[in-house]
Amino acid sequence: VHPAPTLVHAFRESVRRAPDRTALAYFDGRLSYRETDALSDSVAGHLAAEGLRRGDRVAIMLQNSPHFVLALLGAWKAGATVVPLNPMYKSAEAAHVLKDAEASALICSDRAWASYLRETAAGVPSVRTVLTGCELDFQSADDTRVLNFERLPRAADAADLTAVARAGADAPPDREPGPDDTALISYTSGTSGTPKGAMNSHRNIMVNAERQRTGHPVAEGSSYFALAPLFHITGMVCQLAVCLAHAGTLVLTHRFHPQVVLDAFAEHRPAYTVGPSTAFMALAAAPGATREHFASFEVISCGGAPLPPALVEKFRAGFGPYLRNGYGLTECTAPCASVPPEKEAPLDPVSGTLSVGVPGADTVVRIVDDKGADVPFGEHGEIAVRGPQVVSGYWRQPEATAEAFPDGELRTGDIGFMDADGWLYVVDRKKDMINASGFKVWPREVEDVLHTHPSVREAAVVGVPDAYRGESVKAYVSLLPGAGPGPEELVSYCRERLAAYKYPREVVILPELPKTTSGKILRRELRSPQ
Ligand code: ATP
Repeated sequence: VHPAPTLVHAFRESVRRAPDRTALAYFDGRLSYRETDALSDSVAGHLAAEGLRRGDRVAIMLQNSPHFVLALLGAWKAGATVVPLNPMYKSAEAAHVLKDAEASALICSDRAWASYLRETAAGVPSVRTVLTGCELDFQSADDTRVLNFERLPRAADAADLTAVARAGADAPPDREPGPDDTALISYTSGTSGTPKGAMNSHRNIMVNAERQRTGHPVAEGSSYFALAPLFHITGMVCQLAVCLAHAGTLVLTHRFHPQVVLDAFAEHRPAYTVGPSTAFMALAAAPGATREHFASFEVISCGGAPLPPALVEKFRAGFGPYLRNGYGLTECTAPCASVPPEKEAPLDPVSGTLSVGVPGADTVVRIVDDKGADVPFGEHGEIAVRGPQVVSGYWRQPEATAEAFPDGELRTGDIGFMDADGWLYVVDRKKDMINASGFKVWPREVEDVLHTHPSVREAAVVGVPDAYRGESVKAYVSLLPGAGPGPEELVSYCRERLAAYKYPREVVILPELPKTTSGKILRRELRSPQ
């Protein structure tokens, strides 16, 4: 465990060690550790002056920008629990989370406030304080490459985050959170239904940030590239927390755009990044991507979504780095298993699935049946996790908590197995299993086969109602640039490589597959009628 009880403490230690080092790099803008500390103190002072009490919820709805980090540190310094919101949320989704969390303060971009959040927040009486940040979009012509705190206009009845930060107020004393306080209420991605708020403590965060660092070491003072969104637990813990706890430079580029990301790799030469496999598929397909872009990386950690073995090989052959798999959930404060630094993930010889790694220290992973009993060794069952990174439950949802965390052990909803050497494999989500004529088909296995086709960029497999079989297997793919195969050719390709009940009866080619902003392919959207 990291010696510091919370990220605020660890960050302060970084400020002491390296006050002038760049903490945050955003296009041409830079903030040093000392500046980041002072600016976030002012945000904390402002929130306290507005009447925010310890444990109150502060919602942050921002892209990957310095403003996100100042808002987060400021809210924690003021003793608040932070509720990160996906900046892609539309009004109703944002309203659901703000109401559910009973947020007292909202920190968002000027643009979102002006276009719809003002109205949304008006319908949530708990929100008393609003701070808007001058968050620049790299697409907006002249402003692209500056970190300009002054230029954008202030929203009428909201205070300006950056003006507040510049005001130079002190952080309120006696507000510091402790390790067992709730640091975050993280709403799950909602890939399988309505998002639920997992309560991550400061200890949960520090345990996993430290594990990620020791398991994926890079040199002191390295640049960490924020590829995953910071509002998602993977971005928050495996990028932001690891970097700031160890005085690294966090490189931020607003949001994921392959060309902008490649330019930033060339400029900042990052040593470390973490992202979902879909981000690496997009980078590999981006025009102009070369080995040189990836030459500075010591660690590329891939997690939060299935990693097709064919992608690992295609990526290594094309660009050099090895994509290191890791398995996690919001409820585990990001990773609970990962591939140790000196090893490579083995492939299961039967299904061809890549292992997600081995459980972290002090983490017990069991494979269980519906009653919670261990299944015989090597067999499929639900993955259950117990460890210091597992949250205590969902915010104000005692029933969902009792169901997902019997005796404090997390039932993940993922089906998996362990091999004789202790490597964990995730087969698929329990809810995504396809029942074709009584045979179990796991979409992942079919997707992994589709990914071995040289022209396939993304693949998602779902079950669709079928009068004869009950359900039949249907695949959606997007292709790499250039002349590609037709749907029939892809059906034949799978038929040659999979048992008769498993191969997709239909393949649909789309320009791009629907994804969450954290990069997960939304099978749910493909399953619903087009
Ligand atoms: P919701 O719970 O609202 O449906 P979600 O489960 O997508 O959303 P997250 O906590 O972001 O929310 O995602 C965790 C899930 O991502 C895991 O349960 C697992 O299905 C999947 N996952 C994460 N890492 C991996 C991996 N390395 N390989 C396969 N699947 C993974």
